[in-house]
Amino acid sequence: MAAVTQTATPSMWSEQELAEVRESLQREIDELNADILRHETEIASGDVTQGAGDDQADAGAKTYEREREIALTLNARDLVAQNERAIARIDAGTYGVCESCQKPIGKERLQAFPRATLCVTCKQREERR
Ligand SMILES: [Zn+2]
Repeated sequence: MAAVTQTATPSMWSEQELAEVRESLQREIDELNADILRHETEIASGDVTQGAGDDQADAGAKTYEREREIALTLNARDLVAQNERAIARIDAGTYGVCESCQKPIGKERLQAFPRATLCVTCKQREERR
């Protein structure tokens, strides 16, 4: 009798591969958090009273720079949240399963987009809305 040991791999990922994905997501979170901290420091330092300067162009440039920093920070925060969600899915054993149709997302897609939570079909449907 052939004893076939079947391990539960619903998303076709090995433990090793999941560990690697998890590690790279965590590393990215650390880098993003460092970025966020740097941007926040820059934003905060921009808040320091500039004095009653009437240089409009300079003020405009400062506002633009500040808004850019804020946008970068928000974007980084969003990515951190997405990475944390992906890690939570790895830990829960649901990584690689489409959140919408519950089908496997596909390894190639996840290797290109490790944070993907939707399969290509569902993603395209969402983008059409
Ligand atoms: Zn789907």
